[in-house]
Amino acid sequence: MAPQHRQVAVIGSGPAGHTAAIYLARANLEPIVFEGMMANGFAPGGQLTTTTDVENFPGFPKGVMGGELMDLMRAQSENCGAVIETETITKIDTSSRPFKIWREGSEDQAEPTDTADALVIATGASARRMYLPGEDIYWQNGISACAVCDGAVPIFRNKPLVVIGGGDSAAEEAIYLTKYGSMVHVLVRRDQLRASKVMAKRLLAHPKVTVHFNVSPTDALGDGNLLNAVAFVNNVTKEVGKIEANGLFYAIGHDPANALVKGQVDLDEDGYIKTIPGSSETNVPGLFAAGDVQDKRYRQAVTSAGSGCMAALDAERFLSELESEAAETK
Ligand code: FAD
Ligand code: NDP
Repeated sequence: MAPQHRQVAVIGSGPAGHTAAIYLARANLEPIVFEGMMANGFAPGGQLTTTTDVENFPGFPKGVMGGELMDLMRAQSENCGAVIETETITKIDTSSRPFKIWREGSEDQAEPTDTADALVIATGASARRMYLPGEDIYWQNGISACAVCDGAVPIFRNKPLVVIGGGDSAAEEAIYLTKYGSMVHVLVRRDQLRASKVMAKRLLAHPKVTVHFNVSPTDALGDGNLLNAVAFVNNVTKEVGKIEANGLFYAIGHDPANALVKGQVDLDEDGYIKTIPGSSETNVPGLFAAGDVQDKRYRQAVTSAGSGCMAALDAERFLSELESEAAETK
């Protein structure tokens, strides 16, 4: 069967992918969205389908459930005219245009299943977790991987909190959490922080923060409903202990979902797709990146949506330039 051709395809179905789709559809570009089937471990809709209340997405004064927000974005994409396919893309070839796309199960075939003149990559990222004993019970009941998302919830107010990690994220998240918690303990597995000097200094000087070096968590403990302590081991002395804590926040890094584009597009040292600052353009003309797969700093639904809008507008401009060039050469 001949590949199905579209002017533009979107890979990914989180806030970035759907916002790109809404803008592209409204520009009459009839985008196709490959929303994935548990791609990168997430249901269609992405990371927000794994959470409950989202209280910081504008337009929902009482908050909104993550799954509901993503259902609404999907419905909006469709209503605007995007075609949504529940397919995971397992291979792309961006060495020439039109770009070639293979759906899951067809990657061994020479012929792609789809082609597109422009592509928006919005495959997201996933926060690293440690899967401690007890984590399955207390995940989202005291354990989180996003302080900015979850820090303000009532269970953490004026309570001791723990952050795991020693990088810039851990420093930033621990300082952020001092607004809510009574005390923030940062567990660092080595004898030094990885965070930049300025962040490390700020963290170590904060009166509500205690940094514990050479310490790793071993168990998430609680009453069966909510977390109330974190057990730890000192990696040097092998001493074990327990810190009372109603919150445990992982800040041990994220993995951008870059498998599709690795080797075809420039990535930074942490594997995030490099975009030209202030745009969604990658080093491959016609290939645009949006959302967490290109953003290691903000990682929020609203910033992902914003970058999805940028990718759609950049793709629209690219396609109209292609059309003008084609008309001139006729
Ligand atoms: P994602 O949401 O990661 O979605 C990417 C999608 O692309 C996924 O559905 C995935 O399956 C799909 N995909 C990946 N690869 C392929 C492929 N090869 N083919 C097809 N599809 C593919 N942010 C906030 O602003 N507020 C919050 O309250 C908040 N709470 C959070 C709670 C949790 C538990 C988590 C994990 C995150 C939270 N975030 C929150 C962060 C927010 O979810 C992310 O910043 C945002 O979802 C990133 O959007 P995205 O579009 O880049 O990608
Ligand atoms: P990093 O990879 O920089 O740091 C991860 C931290 O988690 C390290 O201290 C690491 O320890 C620790 N860690 C990893 N795995 C484990 C584990 N299994 N158990 C215990 N600890 C663990 O990730 P970040 O998310 O902090 O930062 C990613 C990038 O984003 C960096 O380039 C950072 O500079 C940037 N960033 C910048 C910000 C800013 O400028 N304000 C804010 C946030 C991020 P170890 O050091 O021993 O490997």
